[in-house]
Amino acid sequence: PNTQYELLRRRLYSNTKELWYFIHSGLLDLHKKSKSLIYDIEQLAEVDGYATWREREANDLSNLVQERFRFLQNPKNCDSAKKLVCNLNKGCGYGCQLHHAVYCFMVAYGTQRTLILKSKGWRYHKGGWEEIFKPISDTCTDPTGESVSNWPGHQDTQVINLPIIDSLSPRPPYLPLAIPEDLAPRLTRLHGDPIVWWVGQILKYLLRPQEKISKIIQDTMTKMGFKRPIVGVHVRRTDKVGTEAAYHGIEEYMSHVDEYYNYLELKRPVGQRRVYLATDDPKVVTEAKNKYPHYEIIGDPSISKTAAVSTRYSDTSLFGIILDIHMLSMSDYLVCTFSSQVCRVAYEIMQNYYPDASAKFRSLDDIYYYGGQNAHNVVAVWPHEPRRSGEMTISAGDLIGIAGNHWNGFSKGRNVRTNQIGFYPSFKVKDKIETAKYPTYSEMHK
Ligand code: GDP
Repeated sequence: PNTQYELLRRRLYSNTKELWYFIHSGLLDLHKKSKSLIYDIEQLAEVDGYATWREREANDLSNLVQERFRFLQNPKNCDSAKKLVCNLNKGCGYGCQLHHAVYCFMVAYGTQRTLILKSKGWRYHKGGWEEIFKPISDTCTDPTGESVSNWPGHQDTQVINLPIIDSLSPRPPYLPLAIPEDLAPRLTRLHGDPIVWWVGQILKYLLRPQEKISKIIQDTMTKMGFKRPIVGVHVRRTDKVGTEAAYHGIEEYMSHVDEYYNYLELKRPVGQRRVYLATDDPKVVTEAKNKYPHYEIIGDPSISKTAAVSTRYSDTSLFGIILDIHMLSMSDYLVCTFSSQVCRVAYEIMQNYYPDASAKFRSLDDIYYYGGQNAHNVVAVWPHEPRRSGEMTISAGDLIGIAGNHWNGFSKGRNVRTNQIGFYPSFKVKDKIETAKYPTYSEMHK
C-alpha cells in the first residue's frame, strides 16, 4: 500500500474515535452511530487486502533491527570494542528501571557502542539481570578498557559511563521521541506511533527471559486461566496516588472494559467477559470481584507469589511485576493510566505481537510519553477559532506542544507560534514524527 493510504486510513480511525469521545461526553444519542462508524473503518484494514503485507513488513522491520542489535552487542573483540556503561540500579521502580535501560540502549545504538549493563546488587534481584534475563551480550560484558570517561567523552574513548537521562548533558539526538531516520519512511507507513514500536523493539531484545523463568511464566499463565478475549487492566494506587497521579475508582476502568466488550460484540459473540487485573493494591482485586461478578477476573497475587517461591529466588516483588507486565502486554486491549511506567512498558511490549497495536489502549490520564523525552509536538492540519473560553486559535501548519488529551474530543497544548496555551479539537492535528540520524549499520554484512 502507499504511505498516503495507510496514513489516511489510520487518521480516519483515530479522528472518528476523537469524534466519539466528543459525542460521548455530551450528546449521548449519537453514541451508537459514531461507534458503528469506527467499526466500518476498522473493517477497512481487514478487507483492503494489505493485511498480509502488514504482517510481513512488521516481521521484516523487526528482523532488521534485531539483527543490528545483535551485531552491536556482540563485537568480535571485546578488548578493543567501544563501550557504553549503564548502571541498571536507578533509584526507582521496575518499569522506570526498564525505561532507563532502554534509554541507555538507544544511546549505545546511536553512538555505536556496545552496551554494558551493570546490575550486581539490583534492587529487584541481587544476583543481577543475567540470572533472570539472557545477557545482553554473549561476547562482551566487561566494563573495563584502555580509557574511561564520563559522558560525553571522546570518539576514541574506549569506555564511556552514561548518567541517568535526568542529568544527561549534553543531550545527544538519540533520545525519545526520535526514531532512526533510515527506518522512518517504513515505520510511519506501518505503525500509528513509531516511537512506541522502537521502544518495543529494544525491550524485545533486552527482555529475553532465561529458560527457567520462561517456564515459570508459561506455567503461571496456564494456572491462572489466561484466555482470550481478555482486557488487561492496571490499577496503580499506593505511593503513586496523590503524588504523581490522581485516584481513579475501579468503576472508571471497568466502564472502558464494558465499552470494549460491547464494541467487540458488534463484531462477534463474546461469551465470558474476562479481565486480567494487575495492581499494587490487592484490595482492588477483591473489590473488582465483588462488584463485577459477571466478569471473570484473573490476576490473583497469591499465584505469582507461589511462582516466585517455587524458584527459590524468593524475589516475590520481581516475579509479581514480571508476570503482571507480561499478562498485560499479552492482553487484547489495555485500560490503565499512562502516568504509570508499568502500563507504558506493557503497551510497548504489546507492539511486538501485532503489526500495529498503537490503538489498543485507553489511558485514564496521560497520553503516551517517555520520561526525559524531548518536546512532543503535533502539527495543525486544520485551523481553529475558539468557541468557548479556554480554547485557542490555531492556523494550519502551526506546531503545538501537546500537554495531554482530555479524552472528550479536545487536547491541551501550547501553540509554538503564538505561545498561547489552550484547548483545541484533537482531530485538527497530527503527530509530528521526530527522527534522528542514527547509524545505519551498513557494515554489518561486510
Ligand atoms: P510507576 O511508579 O507506576 O510509574 O512505575 P514503576 O515501575 O517505576 O514503579 C512502580 C513499582 O510498583 C513497580 O515497579 C512494582 O514494583 C510496583 N507495582 C506497581 N504496579 C504494580 C502491579 O500492577 N503489579 C505488581 N506486581 N507490582 C506493581
